[in-house]
Amino acid sequence: MLKGLMQDRPLLISSLIEHAARLHPRREIVSRTSEGPIHRCTYADIDRRTRQLASALTALGVTPGQRVATLAWNGYRHMELYYGVSGMGAVLHTINPRLFPEQIEYIVNHAEDCLLFFDLGFVGLVESLAGKIPGVRACVVMTDRAHMPECSLPGLLCYEDLIGGRSDAYDWPVLDENVASSLCYTSGTTGNPKGVLYSHRSSVLHSWAACAVDGLAIGAAETVLLVVPMFHVNAWGMPYAGAMSGARLVLPGPALDGASIYGLMRDEQVTLALGVPTVWLMLLQHVDTARLKPRDELCLRRVVIGGSSAPRTMSERFATDFSAFVVHAWGMTEMSPLGTVCNLLPRHAGLTLEERLAIQEKQGRAVYGVEMKLVDDAGVRLPCDGETAGHLLVRGPWVTRGYYRDAGAGLLDPDGFFDTGDVATIDADGYMRITDRSKDVIKSGGEWISSIALENAAVAHPAVAEAAVIGAAHDKWQERPLLIVVRKPGGELTRELMLEFLQGRVASWWIPDDVVFVDQLPHTATGKLHKLKLREMFKDYRLPAA
Ligand code: AMP
Repeated sequence: MLKGLMQDRPLLISSLIEHAARLHPRREIVSRTSEGPIHRCTYADIDRRTRQLASALTALGVTPGQRVATLAWNGYRHMELYYGVSGMGAVLHTINPRLFPEQIEYIVNHAEDCLLFFDLGFVGLVESLAGKIPGVRACVVMTDRAHMPECSLPGLLCYEDLIGGRSDAYDWPVLDENVASSLCYTSGTTGNPKGVLYSHRSSVLHSWAACAVDGLAIGAAETVLLVVPMFHVNAWGMPYAGAMSGARLVLPGPALDGASIYGLMRDEQVTLALGVPTVWLMLLQHVDTARLKPRDELCLRRVVIGGSSAPRTMSERFATDFSAFVVHAWGMTEMSPLGTVCNLLPRHAGLTLEERLAIQEKQGRAVYGVEMKLVDDAGVRLPCDGETAGHLLVRGPWVTRGYYRDAGAGLLDPDGFFDTGDVATIDADGYMRITDRSKDVIKSGGEWISSIALENAAVAHPAVAEAAVIGAAHDKWQERPLLIVVRKPGGELTRELMLEFLQGRVASWWIPDDVVFVDQLPHTATGKLHKLKLREMFKDYRLPAA
């Protein structure tokens, strides 16, 4: 075999911030801080402070491979930790503060974190963990001396004191690109959360895919609002893609309500925003109640929606009221997270809005680097005909091959594919559509009914704020769909009107057997519908005809 003669430079996270500091030194990172005010800094500032942070971590005795945890919202100090911790060869472990304290305790101990950095708002949470996380040698509040809280935690450190006065003459070590860079636990709706351990190489490759035009097209001209939290799969890789491309980043801190997000979009002239459907629901409700005119006030061009399915009505609202294109995307913690992106093809030029919305409902086409296949229960490949639904399996250089400190081997199939736990169809153009989580699919008389398709059809009703569908036991059909609806404030809707609305919008045998109205639906720590909890809530429920 003749070897190529190209340089073997490792793909390292430190190279991203070095690049941004060289090529985009004045490009801004705008943060809403936990202390209150808006903070502005540049990639050059982040680069300098990140080196100071790496010196400080070394002085604290952090060595390569050790885990450093964060409990923090999106902000510039969190971004510095992304680069400082991973850049020096340690592993950044971002923790979702919305998890139950017992889950956080489990995760910190399982990851064997040695330091814990946290935002001002989480003092109480960290106090409640005191004595339960023995491996953590020190806790650092991500603030300055003036804002240090009164609290019972012994030996608490202050972030600005820690890095202030340190030399920024820190040279990033040349690491093996395959060493671990960051760690994120899955939200774990069943069993204990599982740790996904990313590498420098996987993170840099993933970042390239995110920046690619047919990926998320992150470029220097964009101002990107990261509503997706930095504790959820590295904020979909955006802190890395931002530095790779020189995009201006807007980090919303703890204020994720509709009014705050709208204000940031307007004041900072955001062109691209990323987040899960729940935050966009809050934004749209705010636009309605405050009677705003986003089309006139904002320069938002694209909204990336992932994490749960983006309903058609949401894409339509963004198109008509904001003149913004919804980029539907799919992925998961185990995939860094990017898997598919719903961009249009040249032959879609000239489609009507209705036709375009039908495409945007799909989760999109695989980005280069991700291979997908559909299989049946026996693992036999199924056709990509846009009709046949099967288990969705993936492989690629930013897909996990095992969980951190997990004894269970055999996570991948013989060809190296990882089972996503999602059920999907793929059409001849490669557009994938998630029809369900495999454990949520409703099995009615041997056929599968997609709970997601029913939910999307239900939320198209103007009086519906949110909807969930679960399978309810049925004597004859084994399971039948039960639709659970939250009405919009002031919305008038009855069971009969809801069922009538669904006629003709879904196959007749999919029409739910009953509709129940509730005040709110349970969500997981990452904002998804908590189907497990819903099934528990409705375990004694009996369908009318059953
Ligand atoms: P997480 O690891 O918490 O990001 O969750 C990943 C799971 O979220 C996927 O396996 C899907 O079930 C779901 N998911 C992510 N994006 C979408 C989407 N666009 N549409 C439907 N489900 C999605």
